[in-house]
Amino acid sequence: MELSNIPKHADTLVIGAGTAGSIIAGRLASKENQHVVLLEAGPDFGSLDNKKWPVDLLNGTVIGETHDWGYKSSSKNGEPNHNLERAKVIGGCSSHNGCIAIWGSYVDYDTWESYGNQGWSAKEVLPYFNKANKTLGVRDFKKSEVTPFHSACVTAIEKTGIPRTNNLNDLYEDNGVDISPVNNLNGQRFNAAFGYLDPVRENGYLSIVGDALVDKINLRGNKACSVDAIINKKRINITAERIIVSGGAYESPCILMRSGIGCSSNLSHLGIKPQINLNGVGENLHDHPSINIKFQGTDLLSNLMREFRQNGNVVYSEQTIAKAQSKNCKEGFDLHVYPVTGITENSNGKWDCAIYAANMAPISRGHLALNSANPIERPIIDQGYLNDSEDKDIGILMEGLELSREISHQKDISELIGKELIETSSIVSIDDIRKLALHYYHPVGTCKMGPESDSNAVVDNMGKVHGVDNLYVIDASIMPDVPRGNTNIPVAMVAERLVSTLT
Ligand SMILES: Cc1cc2nc3c(=O)[nH]c(=O)nc-3n(C[C@H](O)[C@H](O)[C@H](O)COP(=O)(O)OP(=O)(O)OC[C@H]3O[C@@H](n4cnc5c(N)ncnc54)[C@H](O)[C@@H]3O)c2cc1C
Repeated sequence: MELSNIPKHADTLVIGAGTAGSIIAGRLASKENQHVVLLEAGPDFGSLDNKKWPVDLLNGTVIGETHDWGYKSSSKNGEPNHNLERAKVIGGCSSHNGCIAIWGSYVDYDTWESYGNQGWSAKEVLPYFNKANKTLGVRDFKKSEVTPFHSACVTAIEKTGIPRTNNLNDLYEDNGVDISPVNNLNGQRFNAAFGYLDPVRENGYLSIVGDALVDKINLRGNKACSVDAIINKKRINITAERIIVSGGAYESPCILMRSGIGCSSNLSHLGIKPQINLNGVGENLHDHPSINIKFQGTDLLSNLMREFRQNGNVVYSEQTIAKAQSKNCKEGFDLHVYPVTGITENSNGKWDCAIYAANMAPISRGHLALNSANPIERPIIDQGYLNDSEDKDIGILMEGLELSREISHQKDISELIGKELIETSSIVSIDDIRKLALHYYHPVGTCKMGPESDSNAVVDNMGKVHGVDNLYVIDASIMPDVPRGNTNIPVAMVAERLVSTLT
């Protein structure tokens, strides 16, 4: 958009066009009673129909690799050190993610409510999950679309005692394995921008500004009144009646902190004038820690997969998900096991594979802090993996590792995957796991939802920032605890639920 065409004022201004931001902006613009401005730091490739989208962002069979913010973890002990992928593009992470559409457990949402977040119990959020699933085109794979690898995985997992389910998204079922629902069709990823922005792009109520990096929100007293963004190297100010921050778990707290909303003493040290003292901004960061075991893959696997592809089938790397309970799990479940296959860089054209296990109910917490007031600089991100003092999180991951190995020994898949590679067969102790733990791409919690009585809460149960008028945060950052599921559809549920309360 030309600088001169950028609106100077919005009824609602939404920061970030990711999963949540696309839903908020799309739903509000469809009401046709207000002008919505949506600012996105990455490019806007327009609607799906105009065919300008990069191939990797449309290919939903693997994770997209371009348009990344380039975050890295920086834990205090230096380990494990990860790339922390986040998409910088319209649609946000829904434009490059794995398209696995999973909801979690009733325990997740009942627990959010038990913290004092009225309206968030499992029963109350169900209609919003259904709404999100429908608009994002979530579907079940047809039997014929399931690869030979994943059919074998489901059978092998069943043989370890995990029952077959026909609905992984039954919030009240604590054990089960199946092929996961997905939001892609014929291999094409259907992101939140396609589902929510495309229908209203031309209706006159929505202005989408791509390549617009929001620096900060300006307050007058305790009222949010405008936003400063950097567009084409120029600083632009846009005023708004209502401002909604949807920058995701890493950026939303940064935007608040640059605006003077956060722990006042920390902000003063960076030369940022404190406006609203909220100690929880950037705290409570967590994700699902995971661990994998790797296999070279046999000729039989490569032959079967080649034949499957030659028969005209789309090949998906990830399809199977099992939910399971570790021995001390009292409610819901606390493990996901998810095998993946593909032709990777070092596999010489052969299909190799890995089995991942993730701790779905971690209690460890990390935090995120600004490095400086400059919006171009990356924040310090410490995911705090496996740092709980009693090593409960790592114990669950160890059980996940053992379960993955038990699955790999079942004949149904052992003949396809072969022996475990030395690279991972050497993972035997808690210390090995601590060094090699991975993430599951699901950071949340840095602008936690909770009542004012909770000193770490940043927003209330309606997403409104405590102590500030006209300012909301709506995205993964407000989740008090990560749900026991992949987070895209839960974030969409959060956005659907909160936008339904906004006039
Ligand atoms: C590689 C990968 C694979 C994943 N796979 C799955 C999966 O298979 N299933 C699943 O359920 N979940 C998956 N997830 C997680 C899921 O996609 C995310 O949890 C979800 O998309 C987060 O939504 P959000 O709205 O909170 O943030 P995001 O989607 O990250 O959106 C934030 C948006 O705000 C923009 N933004 C940030 N800061 C600024 C700023 N200062 N100014 C302007 N714009 C800004 C960003 O560019 C981005 O577009 C995956 C995530 C990744 C990274």
